[in-house]
Amino acid sequence: MENNQKIILGSHVGMSGKDMFLGSAKEAVSYGGNTLMVYTGAPQNTRRKDTKDCNLTTGWNYLEEHGIDRIVIHAPYIINLANTLKPETFSLAVEFLEKELTRSIDFRSDILVLHPGSHVGEGVDKGIAKIVEGLNAVMTKDMPCKIALETMAGKGSEIGRSFEELAAIYEGVKYPENLRICFDTCHTHDAGYDIREDFDGVMGEFDRIIGKEQIAVFHINDSKNPLGAAKDRHANLGAGYIGFDALYRIVHHSDFCGIPKILETPWVCDEENPGKTRAPYREEIERLLG
Ligand code: FE
Ligand code: FE
Ligand code: ZN
Repeated sequence: MENNQKIILGSHVGMSGKDMFLGSAKEAVSYGGNTLMVYTGAPQNTRRKDTKDCNLTTGWNYLEEHGIDRIVIHAPYIINLANTLKPETFSLAVEFLEKELTRSIDFRSDILVLHPGSHVGEGVDKGIAKIVEGLNAVMTKDMPCKIALETMAGKGSEIGRSFEELAAIYEGVKYPENLRICFDTCHTHDAGYDIREDFDGVMGEFDRIIGKEQIAVFHINDSKNPLGAAKDRHANLGAGYIGFDALYRIVHHSDFCGIPKILETPWVCDEENPGKTRAPYREEIERLLG
């Protein structure tokens, strides 16, 4: 299904050095995207620069000069709300998620993408109950930034590999109207949903269980592994088991125009600097829009 509405497409970009968010903005524009996703600090730790020192105003001025008006923030993946074994991991996750929501608002994002968590052996039900407890501790009625639970591949003890698991989180929380979904193509494929051959069928199922209007962002990635592999290894578009055509159809799907789509595909060898890698996003965005 083709449509003429503007497609909102960008990639994950970095944020570091003295430019901070201005650098992220320049990077996104250099790829030809009209949105971007950033982590507000290293995804694997909780060290964070004060948002006052992130060059947010100059970064946003740059984005606006280039016609970009929305971004997506991704919470660090060390946040694990599903850990039922270590109370200190859970309380750290709650505390950090709360701070991350405030940071997202400072960054002017209305979406914070969150991995639901891993139950680390205690089972899906206990994990979901813990996630619900954690979300209820941070979510408020009028939160300006929504939490988008990401669909997961089901690697290890990850929760969120099925639409039912995500729906159970919605059912448990006090303010389900403040949850959204981040639909990752690599993850859903790895979880066993055949988005390559039957995206509309998968979406029909998603719509029955969660509601397709809940999707606030897509992560567009190919997968290095076959359907249902539960691995979560992203591939460049067309270099994996989902294939370029299926991903192109998702990006251009008329039900989801207006929904930001973010590439998180791996960096590739840099032909001009042997031994180094470079971002593939400029070419991938061009191919998807072409
Ligand atoms: Fe993610
Ligand atoms: Fe993702
Ligand atoms: Zn992934």
